[in-house]
Amino acid sequence: MGKIVRKLASNRLIIATHNPGKLLEINALMTPYGIAAISAGDLGLNDPEETGKTFAENAAIKAHAAAKASNLPALGDDSGLAVDALDGDPGIYSARWAGAERDFGAAMAKVEQALQDAGATDFSAKFVCVLCLAWPDGHEEFFAGDVHGTLSFPPRGGQGFGYDPIFVPDGYDKSFAEMDRSEKQSLSHRARAFAAMEAACLSAR
Ligand code: IMP
Repeated sequence: MGKIVRKLASNRLIIATHNPGKLLEINALMTPYGIAAISAGDLGLNDPEETGKTFAENAAIKAHAAAKASNLPALGDDSGLAVDALDGDPGIYSARWAGAERDFGAAMAKVEQALQDAGATDFSAKFVCVLCLAWPDGHEEFFAGDVHGTLSFPPRGGQGFGYDPIFVPDGYDKSFAEMDRSEKQSLSHRARAFAAMEAACLSAR
């Protein structure tokens, strides 16, 4: 028998992120469901420390902290870039590679340097996203999505955020940062994780 997934009954959902790029994308994905996405930052909630060892653990830490603090269902997302030749790095440390000043130019240069140091000829990578939907009573549901591609240097394009300028998804010759939001959203790791969540937990209104 399949597992019974709890549906989202509330039309308000806390998005447990302070990242404006992610919030924009998540809001666009929630609109068709009549769900108002409220950011944890707007409620004055602090970002908990990401002490998990996996994307799922970190997504759960963020979701449960926001659900408890707001007494509303909350969505935590953890995502990152996993590079094959770097054994999955930067992975859960993707944001941290950009330092406290969130300098993704420096983070992308660090990836390029690490590939060079490893003598890598294979630049395959994937973006991974794990969502945790958590309720104030502690219930949780997880959904994952990924998108495979190849890293390309120098960085190209001015859209998106984070590592988008060096990621060229399989089947395309443009980086994520050269795509407009709807094109990226048609294939992104976050959109795929959302599609899994929508199918299981949301109903169109
Ligand atoms: P999180 O906020 O801990 O999930 O950090 C994820 C980090 O992974 C972000 O700050 C970005 O550096 C990177 N990342 C995740 N998703 C994307 C994406 O869609 N494009 C570019 N970078 C991403």
